[in-house]
Amino acid sequence: MLTEEQNELIESAAEMLYGLIHARYILTSKGLATMLDKYKTFDFGRCPRVYCCGQSCLPVGQSDIPRASTVKIYCPKCEDIYYPRSKYQDMDGAYFGTTFPHLFLMTYSNLKPQKPSQSQSYVPRVFGFKVHKP
Ligand SMILES: [Zn+2]
Repeated sequence: MLTEEQNELIESAAEMLYGLIHARYILTSKGLATMLDKYKTFDFGRCPRVYCCGQSCLPVGQSDIPRASTVKIYCPKCEDIYYPRSKYQDMDGAYFGTTFPHLFLMTYSNLKPQKPSQSQSYVPRVFGFKVHKP
């Protein structure tokens, strides 16, 4: 019989192993296709930036090492990362990895949105005048 503590250790090791297998799986052609369906249904959330107009985002890890940081979402339009609002927010970033969204957009290059133009960035104004930058 295993103690409670040993069981917990095995469970957390199994979870990590599963997570790292997942990170490798989503880089395979089958995995990419699965993620494509999720991307199309906004499963990972939308970019919170106003000028990205609700762009669908992709999960990304800031590290490939487990327990380094939680998963973030990458917006292919503004090419920045954000905290996810969805069910994914407590998940380990390494379970998705640093490569995934970029390989995904190389594979489905037709899905890569155009970068927002310069006119689509926010300009602070006071009484209609641009704020002078010191
Ligand atoms: Zn964006």
